[in-house]
Amino acid sequence: MSTLTIVPVPILSDNYAWLLHDAASGTTSVVDPGEAEGVAAALKARGWRLSSILLTHHHGDHVAGAAELAAAAGGVPVIGPEKDRPRVPAITEGVAEGGRVRVGRAEAAVYEAPGHTAHHIVFHFAAEAALMAGDVLFSLGCGRPIEGTAAQLWRSIHRLRDMLPDETILCCGHEYTADNARFALSVDPDNAALKARAAEVAALRAAGKPTLPVRLGDERKANPFLRADDPALGARLGMAGADPADLFTHLREAKNKFR
Ligand code: ZN
Ligand code: FE
Repeated sequence: MSTLTIVPVPILSDNYAWLLHDAASGTTSVVDPGEAEGVAAALKARGWRLSSILLTHHHGDHVAGAAELAAAAGGVPVIGPEKDRPRVPAITEGVAEGGRVRVGRAEAAVYEAPGHTAHHIVFHFAAEAALMAGDVLFSLGCGRPIEGTAAQLWRSIHRLRDMLPDETILCCGHEYTADNARFALSVDPDNAALKARAAEVAALRAAGKPTLPVRLGDERKANPFLRADDPALGARLGMAGADPADLFTHLREAKNKFR
């Protein structure tokens, strides 16, 4: 039974901060406030007061608004990766693999998911079936391996894929879906689930709406980066029998070059 209202807030050029609101306790958290202004306006519009801030990784487009928002709310906790504390001074409570974070009556488990950055974490609200994925996983795509290898990112992603149920909604850090769809279709053009998702994404964007969150069960079928161990995709790419980490790395490098 979900206790949280979950709202994407578009900020900066293509980021989302996520508001998590538990009405019964009047608790509101924000995930990855890359700026203060847009998040403060979204809170004000709903009459919600900030209770805590959750950070997935140290990049400025995810943390830059944290200190100002925390101060404006009277010094609320800023919860982020313990290992990122040296480079994110705004963090007041460090968490790591196996940690737990409360938002009102809801509770998230913390998982480390390195690859995009060395110390990236994600927050999984099991009862709400929601994953705050940061820049690890996007709809029809995934993060760039900046402080890790693609193989490491694949391990992080496929662990989450295998651990979390289909109904899990992915709350990602960026609106990259339309771009990701173009690349995904270029490597997997006959995938019916992907074609359907691409059409849905085009319609949502044309209407000015977010393409997120998205169900993990749908992404499993459509996102090539979740299918690096699918023999059908391996055969399609001329890499039948390849190590899934190698296939994932190939996809990630092809995506970097794709225009
Ligand atoms: Zn990032
Ligand atoms: Fe980012």
